[in-house]
Amino acid sequence: MTTIDAPADRTALAEVIAELESRSVSQFRTIQEPAVMAELRAVELGDAELAHRAMLLQCSVLLREGRSAEGGYRARRVLDWAVLHDTPNLLARAHREMAIFHRQIGDLADALRHAVQCVANLADDAAPVLRARHLVSLAVALDENGSADEAHRRFGEALDLATAIGEFELVLYILNNVAYIAYENDDEAGARALVARMRETLSHCGRAFTANELDTVARVEMMSRRYGVVEELLGPVLHEESAVRGDEGDALAECLLTLAEARRLDSRYPASQVALDAAFRMCEERGLETLRMRAHEEKAALLADTGRYREAYEEYRTFHAVFASLRSIQREARAHALNTVFEATEARKDNERFREMAYRDALTGLYNRRYLNEKLPAILGSARVDRRPVSLAIVDLDHFKRINDTLSHSTGDAVLKQVSELLAEAATEDASIAARLGGEEFVLILPGVGADEAVRRCERLRRRLQSYAWRPLTGDLAVTASIGVTTSPRGDDTMPGLLARADENLYAAKHGGRNQVVAGDY
Ligand code: GH3
Ligand code: MG
Ligand code: MG
Repeated sequence: MTTIDAPADRTALAEVIAELESRSVSQFRTIQEPAVMAELRAVELGDAELAHRAMLLQCSVLLREGRSAEGGYRARRVLDWAVLHDTPNLLARAHREMAIFHRQIGDLADALRHAVQCVANLADDAAPVLRARHLVSLAVALDENGSADEAHRRFGEALDLATAIGEFELVLYILNNVAYIAYENDDEAGARALVARMRETLSHCGRAFTANELDTVARVEMMSRRYGVVEELLGPVLHEESAVRGDEGDALAECLLTLAEARRLDSRYPASQVALDAAFRMCEERGLETLRMRAHEEKAALLADTGRYREAYEEYRTFHAVFASLRSIQREARAHALNTVFEATEARKDNERFREMAYRDALTGLYNRRYLNEKLPAILGSARVDRRPVSLAIVDLDHFKRINDTLSHSTGDAVLKQVSELLAEAATEDASIAARLGGEEFVLILPGVGADEAVRRCERLRRRLQSYAWRPLTGDLAVTASIGVTTSPRGDDTMPGLLARADENLYAAKHGGRNQVVAGDY
């Protein structure tokens, strides 16, 4: 099925999308249009999950076309949605696209992180072809992160799965990867066995080798200097009307470079130059910078092999210059892509703002109880490690109800705000923190402050509150506070334990006549 006639209902649309999802990598160009249609239809039907599945299909096309930032941006959105909506297979797929995105921009560690998730999140009943594909993604990421054995195991599992269900395109894809790795590892016997399996599998696929696969086969032939075979395999790529398909943008140029190298090693220098010129042209036409760099390197080798050392030297210099500029271009492109995908600056600012808001009390702007719940255990933890004290005081306004009742609630609010400013002022020393526990109750955390100093500071705060010029706000009504303070000498107390002790001391302060600090150990 290559077109869809806007399926009437959800079931039909789900089938269309499932079919698109099942198409192999080599068919990725046939997915774009129907996926766009499917997304529109899903939106019309109000089915968010189907819409996101259709959107993810478009990501895979964008990424395979090398449009990393666009593809990554959408994959990121689908991932966010899938995380929130508990849709394991969509989550797994989104992670897979994110792994591809990160790999494309050269973030191998993040690619691996997502690849691990793309396997971990697959539902138990996920289709075998899906599992096999995801295992392949994980294997590729593991290999690129230098975990050859782990990679090999995943490739093996994926190969068994794909073989069992007769997914020959996938089998070929895996064999191609494993064979290239064997070539890179100088394992000629292994590489040859794999190429033999590639040829055998190809007979089930009803097509010829793609440029990518040809290049692997040719590389393996070069291991035993069978340049004649390489010529047969890759020579045709030189011709305009060549039927060799290069699915990935740079695969054909890669073939031309391999051909140039094989001809050079075979001492066919003018023929090597012909292949090299073709490679340069293709790099130019298609903007293949990485390969252009390698073309300069190959050209330098050709010049050196023909005794033109001075020119070879110049060419190596060009190679290094292209290499350096490429690295900086890639760094910029990478930064740009990451920025697009994570809307970095904006989103981060928003996140920080929202997080900060969540930790602040709306009336007074002081930290709130949620902040304390997160922060205090951490403060106690590091105090325990450093064997340093932590003091904590609960500050409760005296007869605050009277202010509300006698004056007004808004006057009460104004007093609370002013008290908060005085508390914040008391918390400017060291790493002290002032927070509002709720109502007219506040907390002062004094990390690194021992019992005696804590009492001194609380006493200072009590006097400051008492002597503040409240009259314009509250008239004859005084504003004072009772303070219960306690200290954990080496940080080896829990947050509830510390709060309970401070609260007991506060209770004692209230019963002792209010407007006082109590630090006793009750
Ligand atoms: P005590 O000396 O025993 O602490 O007496 P109190 O009146 O301060 O204590 P109580 O806990 O009985 O009353 C606290 C009052 O604080 C009750 C409530 O109306 C008031 N309150 C709590 N939150 C707010 C607020 O956000 N704004 C205002 N204006 N009042 C508040
Ligand atoms: Mg009170
Ligand atoms: Mg109270």
